[in-house]
Amino acid sequence: MSEEMKIPYKIYLEEDEMPRDWYNVRADMTKKPAPLLNPGTGQPMTAAELEGVFCADLVAQELDNDTRLIPIPDEIRDFYKMYRPSPLVRAYCLEKKLDTPAKIYYKFEGNNTSGSHKLNSAIAQAYYAKKQGLKGVTTETGAGQWGTALSMACAYLDLDCRVYMVKVSYEQKPFRREVMRTYGASVTPSPSMTTEIGRKILAEHPGTTGSLGCAISEAVEDALSRDGYRYVLGSVLNQVLLHQSVIGLETMTALKKYGIKPDMIIGCAGGGSNLGGLISPFMGEKLRGEADYDIVAVEPASCPSLTRGKYAYDFCDTGKVCPLAKMYTLGSGFIPSPNHAGGLRYHGMSPIISELYDQGLMRAISVEQTAVFEAAELFARVEGILPAPESSHAIRAAIDEALRCKETGEEKTIVFGLTGTGYFDMVAYEKFNNGEMNDYIPTDEDLQPGFDSLPKI
Ligand SMILES: *Cc1c(COP(=O)(O)O)cnc(C)c1O
Repeated sequence: MSEEMKIPYKIYLEEDEMPRDWYNVRADMTKKPAPLLNPGTGQPMTAAELEGVFCADLVAQELDNDTRLIPIPDEIRDFYKMYRPSPLVRAYCLEKKLDTPAKIYYKFEGNNTSGSHKLNSAIAQAYYAKKQGLKGVTTETGAGQWGTALSMACAYLDLDCRVYMVKVSYEQKPFRREVMRTYGASVTPSPSMTTEIGRKILAEHPGTTGSLGCAISEAVEDALSRDGYRYVLGSVLNQVLLHQSVIGLETMTALKKYGIKPDMIIGCAGGGSNLGGLISPFMGEKLRGEADYDIVAVEPASCPSLTRGKYAYDFCDTGKVCPLAKMYTLGSGFIPSPNHAGGLRYHGMSPIISELYDQGLMRAISVEQTAVFEAAELFARVEGILPAPESSHAIRAAIDEALRCKETGEEKTIVFGLTGTGYFDMVAYEKFNNGEMNDYIPTDEDLQPGFDSLPKI
């Protein structure tokens, strides 16, 4: 047995090695992410304004650019213990298959019923809603992982959960919907006739299959119209990246246990929450000048917010009811091509990730969906886990890097985030298996209307 093989297939942590605090990367950023703006006044949103929509403790976390460590309440840690710490897996079988000298690790977040990392923030947001004495929360869900995670968290804490699900997913993934209902959530396909904004969107675009931006508008309107309800969001916001830092903190602890120093850290990027959570502690070391890492965001070529978007203030939702966020964006009117099947379809990107990217502290690449599903298939066959299409963007990038190492002989250590499983994505896999999947990369002309819709500010 070589020295090397002493690293186990799975690096498990003990329960008491789980982080006691979330890590707030903003504290180590000299140039902070831009504040959310009130679309009416153009001024930064105050806590009081935000508290009309969001829970008070979450607003405090959202606005806190300075506190480095924020304690994880015991109640949330206890919930985490049901499915965390999550394993860091050495992809020995994938390395062997690729015949690469690179060493590949992945942090697997799919070991819970929601099938993704989203539960890490769902339980935190539900906890603060409960603590505030609210009756329930409203939200949107696209592919369905966030709605599932939130319904699980709400069931645990006995909160009402109202989910607006993008219509195309509602129809394509009926079983996702049933999981949410099993956990007690009510699920409405969006756009719907139950909200004013939904009726307006349907009147303007009859037959639309919906978008995340549209479902967000409906969920916000629903929360505002009900006593004792607030709106919660599963990605993009600073607070969500904060909660997701458990992923990166555990990864760092596991690596340090075996004296492993990663060269490259890769995450898929939709709204930026898993990526932000995975990279935060590593980025912190980089910002403090203690270490250097090659940090890479991977996005779909069909929804390229970092690689082709503009860094500008934009609406977070289609109905323009939410505050403005400064982010890399394709414009709130952008909707990916109908043949896009791989998730990660939000038009914008977390303001934290956007600012780090703009400062050149990390890179971004885009990948095409057939290449993503090829990577997913290879990974499933050798590592056993059926990956979510979203996660498979990171797999693609890790495989490509490992293949480059094979050319150069570099023994690079690559860590990537395997955010979830793909059991509810079989319609997309079916398309791939039938050879019916193709790639569509938007032209500059396709992107222009989205940019034209950016608010003038
Ligand atoms: C939601 C989701 C993503 C993308 O969201 P981020 O906020 O960018 O992390 C990635 N993978 C899975 C499995 C998801 O459910």
